Amino acid sequence: FKNNDYLENMVEELRSNGTNVVVGVLDDVVNWGRSNSLWPLTFATSCCGIEFMAIGAARHDFARFGFEVARPSPRQADFIMVAGTITDKMAPVLKRLYDQMADPKYVIACGACTITGGPFKNSYHVVKGIDKILPVDVFIPGCPPRPEAMIYGLMQLQRKVKLERFIGGVNKKELTIKEYEEKL
Ligand code: SF4
Repeated sequence: FKNNDYLENMVEELRSNGTNVVVGVLDDVVNWGRSNSLWPLTFATSCCGIEFMAIGAARHDFARFGFEVARPSPRQADFIMVAGTITDKMAPVLKRLYDQMADPKYVIACGACTITGGPFKNSYHVVKGIDKILPVDVFIPGCPPRPEAMIYGLMQLQRKVKLERFIGGVNKKELTIKEYEEKL
C-alpha cells in the first residue's frame, strides 16, 4: 500500500470488529520463508565435497537451517554449492547447470579451489576462481573449510536473501556487497 492512512484505517476497522490482524511487509514474510528453505544443487568435485557431506550428517545437521533438501537437478535448487576443483573442461558444464536454475538463484564458492584454483592455481587446466564464470554470492575460504565455516557461509546467504526486495522485479545485484554489509 502506498497510502499508509488507508492501511491504518482498514486495520483499525478490522480490529474494532474483533478481527485478529497481523500486518507485515510482504518482502519480509516471503524472504523469511525463502531464507529458511534454500535447497542446494550440489556440485562437489573433490575433497571439499566430502566436507559438504559432513554438514548434512547428524553432528552438524544443516537441516536445522532448512538446507537439507540437496537436489541433483538444477530445476529444483535455489543455490549451487560449488565445492571442489573446477577444471577448464568442467567450466562449461557448471555454467550450463547454473543457467538451467530458476531465478532467484545463488552461488556459493566453497573452498580455496573454487575461489582461486587453490593448490592447483598454477596448473594449466584449472579455473582460477569460479567468479570468472558465475556471479558468486558467498565465498567460503579454507582447504577444505571446516563444516562450521560452511554452515556460517550458508547462514550468510540466508542473511543476504532476507535483505532482497521484489518491487520492480528480482534484482539481487541491486545492492553491492558493501551495502549489504552495512545493512546487516
Ligand atoms: Fe581439496 Fe583443498 Fe581444493 Fe577443497 S580447496 S577441493 S580440500 S584441494
